[in-house]
Amino acid sequence: MKRVYLDNAATTKLIPEVLEAMMPYMTEIYGNPSSPHYFGQQSGMAVDKARQQVADAIGAEAGEIIFTSGGSEADNTAIRGIAERYAKKGKHIITTAVEHHAVLHTCQYLEKHGYEVTYLPVDEYGLVTVDQVREAIRPDTILVTIMFANNEVGTIMPIPEIGALCREKGIFFHTDAVQAVGHVRIDVKEMNIDMLSMSAHKFHGPKGIGALYVRKGIIVPPLIYGGAQERNRRAGTENVPGIVGMGRAIELACENLDEKAAKMMLLRDKLIREIPARIPEVKLNGHPTKRLPNNVNYSIKYIEGESILLMLDLNGIAASSGSACTSGSLDPSHVLLAMGLTHEVAHGSVRMTLCDETTEEDIDYVLEVLPKVAERLRKMSPLYHG
Ligand SMILES: *Cc1c(COP(=O)(O)O)cnc(C)c1O
Repeated sequence: MKRVYLDNAATTKLIPEVLEAMMPYMTEIYGNPSSPHYFGQQSGMAVDKARQQVADAIGAEAGEIIFTSGGSEADNTAIRGIAERYAKKGKHIITTAVEHHAVLHTCQYLEKHGYEVTYLPVDEYGLVTVDQVREAIRPDTILVTIMFANNEVGTIMPIPEIGALCREKGIFFHTDAVQAVGHVRIDVKEMNIDMLSMSAHKFHGPKGIGALYVRKGIIVPPLIYGGAQERNRRAGTENVPGIVGMGRAIELACENLDEKAAKMMLLRDKLIREIPARIPEVKLNGHPTKRLPNNVNYSIKYIEGESILLMLDLNGIAASSGSACTSGSLDPSHVLLAMGLTHEVAHGSVRMTLCDETTEEDIDYVLEVLPKVAERLRKMSPLYHG
């Protein structure tokens, strides 16, 4: 059976060059980077190189990169770290209603511990404006945390503008850029970003490794205490193969980034254009232009996203109905609800996320299968009257 993987926002395929870079560190180069002997030095040098590769990809310095176990840990470290360290200055945090759960649940945890959190509402496209952020700032605001790009609908937030505002007001600015790194050009200095989270498995690197950029001069206490690894900012023996893989993957992702993004956008736009031409009563979720080059999200009215996914899967197509973390629960996506969709329309959403290996044949196959699936399910739907 033909298989088409359109769930790259959930995770991506590890590319052979990345595995190749990692292999020696899973076999013969096994020293602990903290050990001063030859074996340790070999591993230590590899970690240094990867740190530089990650820093270069976002315009940072190597000393500003902390390796973590992934995007969730990076988000937790940034938000809980700033909250703890700067509690005397204030206990107010600003975020949005459409963040990933790694940010939302961390903020909810802090609310139980005496912090106040403002969850900015978004417009119908999933956007917040810099004016909303400005109006929410209070004398006790210590942190603004707003995602770079949304994982469900692909909407890209006005990050440089928010960064400039936070810098002007002297408030720390963190962004969860897990969906953006490798797809969108990022320069943390130009964009006035103080902290940025990323995760290797979202850009064809290995799972279980990520990083947090922390601008020089900002002190973020560790989430994990123990040894002096990561300059006392994150204890635990380094995941050397993972770190090496992340370095190579981010380097590859940033090579010809614009060309790869342009190629994905062509296919993305073909889906965006052709789905409403072939299926009546659908709604594009997310912004028409300010969106990730690989994200398509449609609500197919009168039917359940879960049933669509099941039938797509039977036809070899892997898609998603929101985030991998929320599928399995029956609640509709908090992102789509925040954008003003009704429960019914939110339930009918299908997310398809491409990668640079996605082909036009893949897209044509989806355009052949999806209308048939929608029609079949609608015939069985009590809500649909043709
Ligand atoms: C995937 C994702 C995360 C979590 O990253 P992990 O490495 O899986 O912990 C956080 N934020 C966003 C926006 C994501 O897409």
